[in-house]
Amino acid sequence: SPSHGGDAVPGRVRVAVRLRPQNAEEMMADADFADCVELLPELKRLKLRRNNWDSDTYEFDEVLTEFASQKRVYEVVAKPVVESVLDGYNGTVMAYGQTGTGKTFTLGQLGEEDTSSRGIMVRAMEDILSDLSPETDSVTVSYLQLYMETVQDLLNPANDNIPIVEDPRSGDVSLPGATHVDIRDQQTFLELLRLGEAHRIAANTRMNTESSRSHALLTVHVRRSVVESADNVLTENFDASHLTKPSKPLIRKSKLVVIDLAGSERIHKSGSEGHMLEEAKSINLSLSALGKCINALAENSAHVPFRDSKLTRLLRDSFGGTARTSLIVTIGPSPQHRGETSSTILFGQRAM
Ligand code: ADP
Ligand code: MG
Repeated sequence: SPSHGGDAVPGRVRVAVRLRPQNAEEMMADADFADCVELLPELKRLKLRRNNWDSDTYEFDEVLTEFASQKRVYEVVAKPVVESVLDGYNGTVMAYGQTGTGKTFTLGQLGEEDTSSRGIMVRAMEDILSDLSPETDSVTVSYLQLYMETVQDLLNPANDNIPIVEDPRSGDVSLPGATHVDIRDQQTFLELLRLGEAHRIAANTRMNTESSRSHALLTVHVRRSVVESADNVLTENFDASHLTKPSKPLIRKSKLVVIDLAGSERIHKSGSEGHMLEEAKSINLSLSALGKCINALAENSAHVPFRDSKLTRLLRDSFGGTARTSLIVTIGPSPQHRGETSSTILFGQRAM
């Protein structure tokens, strides 16, 4: 399908693909093999090798090679969404891909030793904090894990089954009881991300699962006070009393949701049973529901099936409509995972 290009457009999902560099193991194992993908970033194309002779070509809004810096990835994938959140619209940035392909590196890297490696969450907060006025605006953050259709608070582990409430009139989604922390500086935010990650590890150890089997959702709520426009003062019916009355500030609320999705790898049916199978079914349910919603938006369909999973119910007000959404699909270079890479690419293609 043709590339739409351009900046974040409300309603449709902007899709980027990012290739992780070869790791040490792959360098050893695949020394004699060509990578299974070839990127043509200028043409915004990716070629996936089918066999020694043939490959399939796909187009994306952005193609990010193994040399793309974290800064560039932020600018291309997230910055347009962050800017529209600062303008009062909701937005979503999410990463989809097989475990080990760089979702968490792309979104959640703290980069404390090496600031150039900071991921999207930290860079987004930096831009948000620098744009707001501390006297009149505020930022709060919540951090949740969605595991087996249960919403858990990563900032307060006792809060392990948070309901999702949708306002039938406004369509706004809220999570009563979820912890919201006021953020005034980057240090507080980094501490909160570390705390959330520690709670995530503890919760997953307790539940005997891995982080890659749950979705992590960071929500940044922005409240700005905006003064009503004084444009109408220059009309013929100019009323001087406007000047003496200070205009009433309005509070404008918007939010940015950053989602580190569960690993998209298929769990082979033969090898999984019991809990593992239930986990796999739950991940497949939420990712396929997400795929259907993305698809419906791409096709401008009147019906977007948000109700099909908790993941999509959570996204109802920050996805489609006036919201801006960016999807980054992450892939690895190894021919060994060609099947998973192919299905990740197809997921991204369905969004366009
Ligand atoms: P996922 O969250 O998709 O399972 P990770 O983000 O944990 O994957 O990445 C797996 C490993 O690869 C980590 O050690 C991470 O630091 C590394 N990695 C991922 N993407 C990159 C990249 N673009 N550049 C350098 N290292 C990367
Ligand atoms: Mg991860």
